[in-house]
Amino acid sequence: MKGSLDLFLGTMFSGKTKRAMQTIGPLIGAGASYVLFQSSWNKRDGNVWRSRGLSYTLPAQVIDLSKPNFLGEMDSLAEDREVIGIDEPFSFVCCNSPESYEKNAERYAAKLAELVLEWKADGKKVFIPSIHAFFNKRPVHFVSDIYRYADRVEFCVESTCSKCQKPASLTQRTHNGQPSKYGEPLLVLDGEKGWEYFPVCADHFRE
Ligand SMILES: [Zn+2]
Repeated sequence: MKGSLDLFLGTMFSGKTKRAMQTIGPLIGAGASYVLFQSSWNKRDGNVWRSRGLSYTLPAQVIDLSKPNFLGEMDSLAEDREVIGIDEPFSFVCCNSPESYEKNAERYAAKLAELVLEWKADGKKVFIPSIHAFFNKRPVHFVSDIYRYADRVEFCVESTCSKCQKPASLTQRTHNGQPSKYGEPLLVLDGEKGWEYFPVCADHFRE
């Protein structure tokens, strides 16, 4: 089988996981072996891939990020699989402050990108739904590392601005109604402890 890499990019709620699931579904239906990865940070979805726009879920392998060799574990689990998915690769990072994220991101992103490219070279089909920018407009290192190797990039635009209903291009995050500031934790779930995410257009993004 010829390897490939498909990226599904967009804001929060843009339909990226849905599009990835709709693309992977027929391959699984045709009997392809697969593993879909979810990071242990995503406690909301646990051991499934889920999209608000779909009535079904797909079983996922939760990767415990507290294990120092979690990338090695992912590689072992992917070894005999034809189809591999990584949901929100930015969350596969062992730290939660923007400072330490940015310090570690290059090393982490490069390692994960290396792994994905090895899988592709081995003939595996890799599917990755990911935000294209953080809530604070900062880059998602992994995406910029891997983008140029993708066979197909789909920009998902299902989300509309929560203020004006125009197509959304950014993700706004608020904490108790106030725009999130640089220095606040990167990895918080929507609805957790006063944190909320909204898709917005550039005109309605609040710094
Ligand atoms: Zn707007």
